[in-house]
Amino acid sequence: MADELIDALVDIVGAGQVLTGGEQAERYLTEWRGAFKPRAAAIVRPADVDEISRVLAVAARFNAAIVAQAGNTGTVGGSAADDPRRQVILNLQRLNRVREIDADNATITVEAGCTLADAQRAADNAGFYLPIQLASAERCRIGGNLATNAGGLNVVHYGNTRDLVLGLEVVLADGRVWDNLTGLRKDNSGYDLNDLFVGSEGTLGIISAAVLELADPPRQRAVAFCALADVQSGVALQSRLQRETGRHVVGCELISAQALTLACDYSAECRMPFTPHSDWYLLAEVAISAAGDWLIRACESTLAEAARQGLIVNHVVADAPGAMADLWRLRTSIPPAQSAAGASIKHDISLPVSKLPAFIADMTPRLYAAVSGIRPCIFGHIGDGNLHFNLTRPVDMSDTDFRAHEAGLHRLVHDRVAALRGSIAAEHGVGRLKVDEIVRLKAPVEIDMLRAVKKALDPDNRLNPGAVVRI
Ligand code: FAD
Repeated sequence: MADELIDALVDIVGAGQVLTGGEQAERYLTEWRGAFKPRAAAIVRPADVDEISRVLAVAARFNAAIVAQAGNTGTVGGSAADDPRRQVILNLQRLNRVREIDADNATITVEAGCTLADAQRAADNAGFYLPIQLASAERCRIGGNLATNAGGLNVVHYGNTRDLVLGLEVVLADGRVWDNLTGLRKDNSGYDLNDLFVGSEGTLGIISAAVLELADPPRQRAVAFCALADVQSGVALQSRLQRETGRHVVGCELISAQALTLACDYSAECRMPFTPHSDWYLLAEVAISAAGDWLIRACESTLAEAARQGLIVNHVVADAPGAMADLWRLRTSIPPAQSAAGASIKHDISLPVSKLPAFIADMTPRLYAAVSGIRPCIFGHIGDGNLHFNLTRPVDMSDTDFRAHEAGLHRLVHDRVAALRGSIAAEHGVGRLKVDEIVRLKAPVEIDMLRAVKKALDPDNRLNPGAVVRI
């Protein structure tokens, strides 16, 4: 079967675009976190939607499975194929065009293989702003952003990737193409099928292009960095900043002292703006496209009042580009700093923001009791209730010994999140990593609905089998 399948794929895309081994294939068979060792019968690189359609039709004929791959920056093994007999990785990087920018409709029509950074630059050149902010922007691609419903640094104002979608072009499991690149803001003519494919992680269809809503670039911007009295003060402060700025807080990040220390130790470019003396910090960005400086003044006066009331013990506000970038670096340096600090056991959780302080207070002693010397490296998008509840190994413990605690620590954190009705897959998705945890923690009725949707669109389980939900 394999040889005939490969021949049929070569007939569609050409010999150079079907990889079955060697160094070139290895590039697509890596998983950057090292948690999976991907294996596939072949990697196929179609050039357009017609070729994707024909590849899927051939896969159906040979009962092969298709694992979509865009930038391969996902964190949950979603594009890590795991069956070299049956699975073919369909890489979208050649579909990399910006098809159209409609200025009056404020939309961009972009193909799935366009990097997020290229799409952002195209929007920027046309006088717009594409508000998906991920540190992986130069490598991740629009198809992956859509398929994971990516979050990032400015969800608090602009929403998740899902909230920007005004149309999709999708190739179904049997090869048929659904062209819904409408750019409509209103369409109640049935179920919202766009929404079904966004966040489906390649298990329901292959997204080949999308119409995304654009925003206007900000003309007023300021970044505040605050040392908090405690986590509860951070929750109160983000809520107050939203109210006093007319909900123009576009980024709102909580940072623990441990996470900040790792970042400052790791990067010489990370400079604290004041002497640290707090367990918790909040970084907030306010922005608006309207001219003037009232938003910046509103931010400053809100923080001054918060300082008088004891919510914050120190703070700075920057509105010059270099100074704002310096403050953001304190946050964006945390993930690489954490990688450099040894093995980490990570959790991508969300809760109503009001429940975060109690969750953290409850979890912290349990973590120390579970692994003496563990270094909680907690940071994340407090404005969305989404924390990267990451745990770094004790200084004097080997990575291997720490990894032995992985299942137990996952269970400890996930059980508490589930008890509070939070999510254990807030922005990175389920992939292959969390399939069993989802089944363990979600209500059976919800798992039944997920399986029913999967069976309706992919009855033969040929799209990314083993990811998100097993049927
Ligand atoms: P891939 O990793 O290639 O694929 C991800 C999933 O989507 C897989 O299941 C795949 O099968 C499926 N898929 C890919 N393309 C398609 C398609 N065209 N049609 C159907 N299914 C498809 N994520 C966040 O949410 N927020 C962050 O702040 C964030 N920061 C990051 C920072 C760094 C440094 C890194 C390395 C990653 C970060 N991520 C973040 C994770 C990752 O960048 C996002 O999940 C991103 O959206 C994945 O895009 P990708 O193109 O790399 O997709």
